[in-house]
Amino acid sequence: MGLKVRERGWRDTLFSVIILYVVSKSRVLLVNALNILVQRKGVYEMEKIKMTTPLVEMDGDEMTRILWKYIKDELIEPFVDLKTEYYDLGLEHRNETDDQVTIDSAEATKKYGVAVKCATITPNAARVEEYKLKEMWKSPNGTIRAILDGTVFRAPIIVKGIDPCVRNWKKPITIARHAYGDVYKASEMKIPAPGKVELVYTKEDGSEERVLVHEFKEAGVVQGQHNICGSIESFARSCFNFALDSKQSLWFATKDTISKQYDHTFKDIFQEIFDSEYKEKFDAEGIEYFYTLIDDAVARVMKSEGGFIWACKNYDGDVMSDMLSSAFGSLAMMTSVLVSPQGYYEYEAAHGTVQRHYYKHLKGEETSTNSVATIFAWTGALRKRGELDGNSNLMKFADDLETACIKTIEDGKMTGDLARITERTDTTVLNSLDFIKAIRETYENL
Ligand code: NAP
Ligand code: MG
Repeated sequence: MGLKVRERGWRDTLFSVIILYVVSKSRVLLVNALNILVQRKGVYEMEKIKMTTPLVEMDGDEMTRILWKYIKDELIEPFVDLKTEYYDLGLEHRNETDDQVTIDSAEATKKYGVAVKCATITPNAARVEEYKLKEMWKSPNGTIRAILDGTVFRAPIIVKGIDPCVRNWKKPITIARHAYGDVYKASEMKIPAPGKVELVYTKEDGSEERVLVHEFKEAGVVQGQHNICGSIESFARSCFNFALDSKQSLWFATKDTISKQYDHTFKDIFQEIFDSEYKEKFDAEGIEYFYTLIDDAVARVMKSEGGFIWACKNYDGDVMSDMLSSAFGSLAMMTSVLVSPQGYYEYEAAHGTVQRHYYKHLKGEETSTNSVATIFAWTGALRKRGELDGNSNLMKFADDLETACIKTIEDGKMTGDLARITERTDTTVLNSLDFIKAIRETYENL
């Protein structure tokens, strides 16, 4: 780092303070100015890390919006000459722009390649009333995912002292959830009385293909699911790319022995893409693609030591990601990244806006909200930006800030959610801002 530049910044300011004293002859002013200068010395001593390409910054709601500002003020901007293109995805601004801002932020992600997102409110009836919304706007994550056509990867942050319930899990298990179709886009019907239910495929030329679902002799229920090969292919490529990126093996599982058309198509698409596009690259990295049945996968996951990516169909991913996050400790220690098959990345925390803490905050009460997953969203995005721009200083900053987060917790300083689940008894519970300041102190002393 340019030592001379650093020293000059500090010396120039000291010189200005002396001039100020000479002109004003005010001792009080001199003492105050010197005090501020001493406090800021650390900042002057460090030349800020430069960025060449902006990150797409998506601000959000409630408690996470408060944390967002603390994180930028205390942990990012003192050290990085931060460049972002800012989009305010806070519910009020989404409402003002008829949700256009969400679409614009996703389009900007396609332009620049990397985004960092704060948690946002998905409106329900209560929120429409609370925020006097023009409409019940759609989930921003759903909108962004539809535009980027991505897969969401969720991984826990592991720290000593907050051990997973499963004793043999030593490394993170990353879940990749296919975010299109199946039961989430199914058509359903209640069958009130006896009758025949069929699947009918009407081709463009008008001809039909039929399959019997069930000949009902009594009341029942029926469901029609679908998926599309293009989406499964995108999912497969996102998973293979992410495995190569993170140098971890990829597991995938379905129930193809029972579902010989539907699930088998998933299995076949993954295998064909792997063999034709990824096998050699995986061999070169010494990682593997492993396919098995879903029930076998669950059994093996429980016995494994972690350190791999587990690709799941939509429903399996929904269920298994909640199982993994609670077994690893806390939703507040779970990171999430949306990866598109074209190589666009959007980083965020896996948790929501922590509404209950926000209402306490609004009442002026102290909160102890865990900012680690949101900090890791920033470091993930900055590291990826550094990687794409060949900016090793930025990548190192991201690594160091993550190390500082983990070290702070391992030193016993943490937020209430972690103090409740740790086996340690010598912990100091900090409030939301003091925890972030403690991370800053650790970072500055690394
Ligand atoms: P939440 O914000 O994830 O919080 C649920 C509870 O989990 C909190 O009340 C808190 O428990 C605990 N928690 C979560 N994150 C924490 C953290 N960082 N530090 C400490 N504790 C944490 O879920 P929610 O309250 O159901 O949802 C609130 C809003 O978030 C909703 O409007 C929802 O639409 C939105 N949401 C957004 C996203 C996203 O943008 N990705 C994801 C999910 C939900 P205690 O109260 O017991 O302390
Ligand atoms: Mg779920």
